[in-house]
Amino acid sequence: MARQYKYLLPEDQVPTRWYNIAADLKNPPAPALHPGTGQPLGPADLAPLFPMAVIEQEVSTERWIDIPEPVLDVYRTYRPAPLFRAHRLEEALGTPAHIYYKYEGVSPAGSHKVNTAVAQAYYNHLEGVRRITTETGAGQWGTALAYACQMFGIELKIYMVRVSFEQKPYRKAMMNVYGASVVPSPSQDTNAGRTILERDPNSSGSLGIAISEAVEDAATHEDTKYSLGSVLNHVMLHQTVIGQEAIAQMQLAGEYPDVVIGCVGGGSNYAGLAFPFMQERLNGGRNTRFVAAEPASCPTLTKGVYTYDFGDTAELTPLVKMSTLGHSFMPPSIHAGGLRYHGMSPLISQLHEEGYIDAVAHPQLGVFAAAVQFARAEGIVPAPESAHAIRSAIDEALEAKEAGEERVILFNLSGHGFLDLGAYEQYFNGELEDYEYPAELVQQALAGVPQLA
Ligand SMILES: *Cc1c(COP(=O)(O)O)cnc(C)c1O
Repeated sequence: MARQYKYLLPEDQVPTRWYNIAADLKNPPAPALHPGTGQPLGPADLAPLFPMAVIEQEVSTERWIDIPEPVLDVYRTYRPAPLFRAHRLEEALGTPAHIYYKYEGVSPAGSHKVNTAVAQAYYNHLEGVRRITTETGAGQWGTALAYACQMFGIELKIYMVRVSFEQKPYRKAMMNVYGASVVPSPSQDTNAGRTILERDPNSSGSLGIAISEAVEDAATHEDTKYSLGSVLNHVMLHQTVIGQEAIAQMQLAGEYPDVVIGCVGGGSNYAGLAFPFMQERLNGGRNTRFVAAEPASCPTLTKGVYTYDFGDTAELTPLVKMSTLGHSFMPPSIHAGGLRYHGMSPLISQLHEEGYIDAVAHPQLGVFAAAVQFARAEGIVPAPESAHAIRSAIDEALEAKEAGEERVILFNLSGHGFLDLGAYEQYFNGELEDYEYPAELVQQALAGVPQLA
């Protein structure tokens, strides 16, 4: 019998509801706090930044939330996304493990980020918002939101971390194709940007700085709101279409994962795949393992502290309880991939803290080696972010080989790497180095953060 590679669902099986894990957590999530007063945030505090529908989702404890038809209509242009069995990678590794991956690189922007971008653009459109601001690091989020804003006729301004802006001209071009305007951050367009530039005219920027700029821009323009591509609860919610599809596709394959793996930057692609499976562990008695893979250069879960911290550098955002390296974290610029945010989704952080999610940190040379091994077996060139998940999946498959076990491994391939080929070139040229973020810096970076309950 011919072996099967792809598990596909028909278009009418795009999930019609998002899954909200807040309904199933053993402990209630810690509330976000006002940066000035330290008191729990009310909806009115967030209203200058987000549309009301999004604010409601941020704090909702409803288990299922219906996906509006106009959002489904865009989802159907690229979803359901395929699930693959990695037969050729298994052979290359000589492992008895069965490796499956869910592939989100089929979206127009090339990553999972479109899943939340479309939802957020739609809710802004519904409330009559004319303009949105956001930040982007590697450029995937900016691209996804540019596409989504185009779907709903909204103007978009993107603050792009300067080092990426300079290293990735094609990313900027792609955002321009979708109609967005892009400036390098720190920029002269905001107080936050000007303050940083006065201190350091050559600042290469960071996600924390770019967020400060985008938030300030939205807060000071009446017709403008802000959109974030990861970390927040509503973003995790929107991504759960990934895991719901994967559950149905694993059924088609007649298997259930022993371990569910994903890379984590702010946590959204991993939450998207993992949370529907986590529900089956929390309520259904499954004992699935969950592994979050992060870079050794930004080890938020493995070396960070679970505490209240700001989401941005300029301390404009609310304080959220999460794993954090400190909001003044400056990522080393020798690192090629994304995943360089100081914080982490509060939901992922809590599940990690409570022992439901294990975390591993990978140095980048091993990550690129895994990416190349994967591409040579499976054909798809992965995004460097996604390659952290591949590293973990390969390690898991090699462990299964050692133990002689037929383990079922599922990981999320969050995006393709066609616009990251410069990083592959650096890797082949021997220009990338391993770097481990020193734990001592974490306490320093957290000094001065108000320590609340
Ligand atoms: C942005 C991005 C990530 C990291 O963000 P998460 O919110 O952790 O998912 C991972 N993979 C790809 C392809 C991305 O674009």
